[in-house]
Amino acid sequence: MNDKTETEKCEDKRCPIHGNLVTRGRKFEGIVIGKDLHGTAKVEWSRKKKIQKYERYEIKRSRVKAHIPKCMEIGKGDKVLIEECRPLSKTKNFVITQKIGTDILYKAKEEALIEGKFKESKKEIENKEKRMEKEDTRDENNDFIEEEMSEE
Ligand SMILES: [Zn+2]
Repeated sequence: MNDKTETEKCEDKRCPIHGNLVTRGRKFEGIVIGKDLHGTAKVEWSRKKKIQKYERYEIKRSRVKAHIPKCMEIGKGDKVLIEECRPLSKTKNFVITQKIGTDILYKAKEEALIEGKFKESKKEIENKEKRMEKEDTRDENNDFIEEEMSEE
């Protein structure tokens, strides 16, 4: 018996392996940053572009919509290979041809973002508490002054 995922065919006509979709043109490696219910994934990749004037690099990000063949299980954060094909919809003319793996950095980044948000809210609470403490001490000082004055 062969590995099921390797040999399983799909009925997707727009599958580059089992259907009749021909790929031609550009190829890119990118990370899936989102997907919808209609088998479309948003794929993003970045490249460095040199700015001669400043002798620095600028990071350019590109994003395209790509079709997910039915035989592929693609999720957010997956590293994929996409190839250009005929227009599949108004804005979709790429198809995922291979899943390369999962981008660990993307997952870590997303987790860090969530954690960062959590930390921020924690900080906010702490700041509020501090502010309240300050207000409390101010009141105490006032009392102290008043006491002093009454002693005179
Ligand atoms: Zn297929």
